[in-house]
Amino acid sequence: MLISHWHATLDRPPLPVIDLPTTAEVVVVGAGVVGAATALWLARAGLPPLVIDRHGPAAGATGNNGGLLSAGLAENYLAATARHGQVAARELYALSLAGQRLLVELIEQEQIDCDLRLHGNLNFALGEAQLTIAAATVSALQADGFPAALLDRDAAQEMVGIPLGAAVTGARLNPAAGTLHSGKLVHGLLAAAHRYGARLSWGVTVQRIATDAGRLRLITDRGEITAAAAIIAINAWSGEVLPELASHIKLVRGQVLCTAPVAPFIACGFGASLTPTGEYGQQLPTGQVLFGGCRAVAPNHDVGALPGEVSPEVQNAIEAGLGRLFPTLAGIAIERRWSGAMAFTADYLPIVTHPAPGLFAVGGFSGHGMPFAAIIGRHLAEAVQTGALPSALALLGMERATLEGVIGHTL
Ligand SMILES: Cc1cc2nc3c(=O)[nH]c(=O)nc-3n(C[C@H](O)[C@H](O)[C@H](O)COP(=O)(O)OP(=O)(O)OC[C@H]3O[C@@H](n4cnc5c(N)ncnc54)[C@H](O)[C@@H]3O)c2cc1C
Repeated sequence: MLISHWHATLDRPPLPVIDLPTTAEVVVVGAGVVGAATALWLARAGLPPLVIDRHGPAAGATGNNGGLLSAGLAENYLAATARHGQVAARELYALSLAGQRLLVELIEQEQIDCDLRLHGNLNFALGEAQLTIAAATVSALQADGFPAALLDRDAAQEMVGIPLGAAVTGARLNPAAGTLHSGKLVHGLLAAAHRYGARLSWGVTVQRIATDAGRLRLITDRGEITAAAAIIAINAWSGEVLPELASHIKLVRGQVLCTAPVAPFIACGFGASLTPTGEYGQQLPTGQVLFGGCRAVAPNHDVGALPGEVSPEVQNAIEAGLGRLFPTLAGIAIERRWSGAMAFTADYLPIVTHPAPGLFAVGGFSGHGMPFAAIIGRHLAEAVQTGALPSALALLGMERATLEGVIGHTL
C-alpha cells in the first residue's frame, strides 16, 4: 500500500476513540477535512457530534492531497463565469475566499500546528496563449474585487530560487493562498472537536440511511445508530450511501509524487497546465517537492481508477512536468508516490443537499475542497440547528442545471 507524505509524517498520538454507540444526537460521517471542520463547528455550538469513518482521519482525498489552501474555484474564473454567469461566479469565488480565511482563523484560534504558510500561489503560464488567459483571468478577478496579480517571467523568476523552464512566460499570483500539512490539519480539527465534546469512532462503514418516526437510522457494517441529525461528508463515496448522488459525483484518481529534499527555492504553492487536467505542488518545509496532476495522460483520465495505486504513465508525466517547470530538478530522486480519490461533478462545484429532515450531505469538491471545508462546515452546523440549508449555499444545490454533463475529462 502506498502511503502519502501526510500519513507518513503525521507525528501525532492517535485520537481517543470510543466503541460505536447505538444512539447519538448528531452524527458526522466522514473524517476528512470537511467532516472534521463540520464536527468542530457543531461541537463549538454545543452540539458535540459522533464522528465516524470507514477507515480513520484523513483516509480519503484529504490525506492524499497536495496540501494547497487556495481561494478560488476548481475551474478557472473565466470558465466559471461563462458557465454560471458573472453574478454566480462572483458569489462562488467569494464563498471560497471567505472559506480560505475562515480555515486560517480556525487554525489560529484552535492553535492547530499544521505547517500553515501563507505565501500565496503561483500558477505558471506556459507559452503566450496561456499568458493571455492568465492576464484575462487576473483582470476579471480584479474587476470583481478579488486579489490577483499577473507576473511576467522576470517577476515570476524572482519568486523562485532556481531557474524556471524556458517555456514559462509568466504567472498568475493568488495572494489568498497557502500551503499546509493536510494530515496534521485534520488531526488538529478533530482534536479540537474532541476537546469540545465530540466522540470519535473509526472502522465503521455506513451502508444506508433510513428514516423512522422522525429519527434517522444509520445502518452500518457494525450495527445501527439512531440519530436526530446526520451530515454525510464522504465525498467520492457519496453515491454509495445516497444513491441519488451516484450519477452526479464520480471518483477520479489523483496521483502525486514527492522528491528527495532540496534546498529551499519556493515559499508559495504552485500550479501549471502542463496537461489539460492541470498540475499543482509545493515545496515542503523539510525540502521535498510535492507535485501532482497529469491525469490527462491516463486512459479515461483516471475517472473511476482505483485510488491507492499509481500508474507509470501518469507518474512519468508528473516527473517530466516537474523538470519542465524547474530544469534543475529533472531526474531528481523520488522519495514517495501515492494517489487519492477526488470527487468530481460535471460543473466542478461541490453539492450540498438536504435529502430528508435532519439529513444533510456534502461532496464533489472536484479536486479543490480545502478552501470550502471550513465555511461549508459552518453552514452545515447551522443547518443542523435550524433544520434548513442557508441561502449562502443555494448555488451548490442539486437542482442546478450545470450538474448535467460529462464528468472529469477536463481540469
Ligand atoms: C491527489 C489529490 C490532490 C488534491 N490536492 C488538493 C489541493 O492541493 N488543494 C485542495 O483544495 N484540494 C485538493 N484536493 C481535493 C481535496 O483533498 C478534497 O476536496 C477534500 O479533501 C475533500 O474532503 P472531504 O472531507 O469532503 O472528503 P475526504 O477527504 O475524501 O473524506 C471522506 C471520508 O469519508 C470516509 N468514508 C467514505 N465512505 C464512507 C462510508 N460509507 N462510511 C463511513 N466513512 C466513509 C472516507 O474513509 C474518508 O475518510 C486533492 C485531492 C486529491 C485526491
